[in-house]
Amino acid sequence: MPLIDPVLLKSRLGLLAGRFDVDAFEECDSTSSELMRRADLGAPAGTVIVADRQSAGRGRRGRQWLSAPEASLTFSLLWRFSGSPARLAGLSLAVGVALARALEGLGAQGICLKWPNDVLLRQGDDYAKLAGILVELASDRRGIQAVIGIGINLSAPTVELPQPVAGLDQAMAALPERHLVLAAVLSALAGVLDAFAVDGFASSKNEWQQRHAWQDAAVQLLDDGSAPLLGRCAGVDADGALLLETASGMQRIFSGDVSLRRA
Ligand code: ATP
Repeated sequence: MPLIDPVLLKSRLGLLAGRFDVDAFEECDSTSSELMRRADLGAPAGTVIVADRQSAGRGRRGRQWLSAPEASLTFSLLWRFSGSPARLAGLSLAVGVALARALEGLGAQGICLKWPNDVLLRQGDDYAKLAGILVELASDRRGIQAVIGIGINLSAPTVELPQPVAGLDQAMAALPERHLVLAAVLSALAGVLDAFAVDGFASSKNEWQQRHAWQDAAVQLLDDGSAPLLGRCAGVDADGALLLETASGMQRIFSGDVSLRRA
């Protein structure tokens, strides 16, 4: 039996239950890959795939996302938008706002966001990665399909990773039962994604900015193959672009294939 019971989850979702169609697995390759296959077969918006274990969990640029059944909550949500893909700039940032809102609503403290797609936990002067977000877009005759993959560490991974990692159990006195966590995140996502469909990232920008981990910090932007770009992190604009104040002036950075590090 998978750790998530879709019937119990529906009861936790209350009035929003009708907006989600949840399928749970003990194991799959990647919840986003499984959801894309379902989307190709016509799965509706609101379809959710959740898995205890992934054999090929993905991050950006083919990176690996690690999870362990008891220690993680790993799922993907299908959503559809009308209009052009350019409208979806900033979607992964808006998803971060939904995650932060949900976790704070459950009592978590110290939740911060890092451009473009990380949820961090503040630990003294440092930050550790608490959750990862991977948004993959595709167009079809119904408009734009967004597969929103989310991995939350309920407790910190025990494997060695290049950057500090954290678990939700470090952000709150007592970890809520996992169905409650998933229901809270899905509910927050419904609210944020509805607003995003109307106003794009502008609807979440202020909330993102309030939780920005590295506001005004010296950072370096790493782009495979070129020298790091140094600057001061001035926040994000209404399109979700990073505003980087560099020696040659303010630059707008779009998500692309870059990574941000503290200088
Ligand atoms: P960055 O922007 O910091 O370069 P990224 O956004 O490219 O990171 P993601 O795609 O979000 O990274 O996540 C993949 C990376 O996260 C992996 O390369 C690994 O270092 C790290 N990672 C993998 N699993 C976990 C986990 N459970 N908790 C925290 N970090 C993880």
